[in-house]
Amino acid sequence: MKFKIVSKGDERSNKIKRTMKQYLTDFDLVYDRDEPDLVISVGGDGTFLEAFHRYVHRLDKTAFIGVHTGHLGFYADYIPSEVERLIIEIAKTPYQVVEYPLLEVIIRSKKNGKETRNLALNEAMIKTAEGSVVFDVKIKGEHFETFRGDGICISTPTGSTAYNKALGGAIIHPSIEAIQLTEMASINNRVFRTIGSPLILPKHHTCLLEPLKDKSFIIAIDHTSKTYTNVKSIQCRVAKEKVRFARFRQFPFWNRVRDSFVAEGNMKVK
Ligand code: NAP
Ligand code: MN
Repeated sequence: MKFKIVSKGDERSNKIKRTMKQYLTDFDLVYDRDEPDLVISVGGDGTFLEAFHRYVHRLDKTAFIGVHTGHLGFYADYIPSEVERLIIEIAKTPYQVVEYPLLEVIIRSKKNGKETRNLALNEAMIKTAEGSVVFDVKIKGEHFETFRGDGICISTPTGSTAYNKALGGAIIHPSIEAIQLTEMASINNRVFRTIGSPLILPKHHTCLLEPLKDKSFIIAIDHTSKTYTNVKSIQCRVAKEKVRFARFRQFPFWNRVRDSFVAEGNMKVK
């Protein structure tokens, strides 16, 4: 089996990377930057996002796993003290893989029909540096609303605990193939009216955002953002690709949510 380790770059993460690399190669696994079967991210969720995007072109052949060197991560859910056991598990056992949904974002340009396609693990955020965004929001080809406000966030289930949560979106279990649209400070008056609530769209329900004003848009896909001009439309839906996580032990999603946002596990309230 071929593996690759992506480190956050700090001393602690680099040390764990060196240890893992050494032991795994001692177990006859092959370190391969280009075509790894398993990508191990050491750092935080940000490091995991980085690792995901580095191998986004070969998702069907890559499984991911995250070790966290900061606080508990959603993607990076192994702790450094588990590393030794993890190494043995990786070396000895054929691992289980769980697959979770991704978001597909297609940005179409008004000029020469150019389009860019992106996959997001957490979310896409559409904003502007020039006042507010004005979009026609279409769902399954039908006009749904005209949105005016700071922007729109469209997230995956695993991204629902990230920016989406800060916008008041729901936390969605990643076994549900859906995307969620949340508003960022919509303007509501007699001219502009939006639903106000987060919307959860199932597979095949495409959401299309069509700008009504010619502005430049800041479109963030996970941890990176770019400015786009001449945007004709932004199309979002559940992607046909999935992200594959290597599983060596159980750590149910709701336990992760609880341990990150509510309380440490095993805490009892009397
Ligand atoms: P960052 O500024 O370090 O990220 C902000 C926080 O979000 C960090 O604590 C990060 O964890 C955490 N995070 C990332 N993905 C998460 C997930 N799926 N569930 C729960 N928490 C998550 O920037 P970054 O590390 O490059 O990560 C980019 C992501 O940060 C974006 O995709 C966006 O979702 C999120 N973000 C959230 C807010 C907010 O909540 N207001 C603001 C900006 C960005 P680590 O510290 O382990 O990296
Ligand atoms: Mn981070």
